[in-house]
Amino acid sequence: MQTKRGCPHNCCYCVYTVVEGKQVRINAPAEVVAEMRQLYDRGVRNFWFTDAQFIPARKFIPDAIALLREILKAGMKDIHWAAYIRADNLTPELCDLMVQTGMNYFEIGITSGSQELVRKMRMGYNLRTVLQNCRDLKAAGFNALVSVNYSFNVIDERPDTIAQTIAYHRELERIFGANNVEPAIFFIGLQPHTHLEEYALERGILRPGYNPMSLMPWTAKKLLWNPEPMGSVFGEVCLAAWRLNPNDFGRTVMALLEERFGCAPLEEALSAPLEERPLVRR
Ligand code: SF4
Repeated sequence: MQTKRGCPHNCCYCVYTVVEGKQVRINAPAEVVAEMRQLYDRGVRNFWFTDAQFIPARKFIPDAIALLREILKAGMKDIHWAAYIRADNLTPELCDLMVQTGMNYFEIGITSGSQELVRKMRMGYNLRTVLQNCRDLKAAGFNALVSVNYSFNVIDERPDTIAQTIAYHRELERIFGANNVEPAIFFIGLQPHTHLEEYALERGILRPGYNPMSLMPWTAKKLLWNPEPMGSVFGEVCLAAWRLNPNDFGRTVMALLEERFGCAPLEEALSAPLEERPLVRR
């Protein structure tokens, strides 16, 4: 189900804002629920809200609340639902409604547990707020699975930022329980019209006029973003994790990274230096 289109954020690698635009358009709650009802009446009980972000910004919290109330009003009490959730945009009331309406899985795309890197990637997340909101969600009774999306080595990754991400992830595990937090490890696919593409062109990693659809190994290798100097390290760690435990790849990657780079104090992960270099000079 899609309840809205568009995302106002600026994450450096993301193409949603190009495909759907930055202007968020909301589908009326009554229409969404009418569509859900058609499926419900045919036996569907599990829904995935495919929105780029279910709550794209704090100003859309009332829209999310209106939709969840409409679901309750419709009496669909035995459903489960899941979505991409920007966990910086929650309130205790919204957390309660999420649990009451049957949210049993969500994905947080913070990409890194280092506030410094989150800023450099222009993700717009305050990692401290995300943690607080996750505690609120847990307090509201959420006791199911959370997938946390990490893409290491997007920009300026270093041993100390890896140790910060480990610290952040361990804190999420403390909040939800280690078995309920699944680290999903991605390599970013470099997409046209993104800030990351500009960054790669500016540094000569890609050449102007490159073909974004190319399957030639020397181009495709650059488009699956994992640049040096940290690229080989991540290649090795991911390969080792795959060999050791392909059925629990994410947790194995995190364990191997912790073994190699350690776990920083949480406060270090949550603090970012005020001075930062822009991702792309304009
Ligand atoms: S919040 Fe998600 S959908 Fe929006 S720009 Fe960032 S990565 Fe893309």
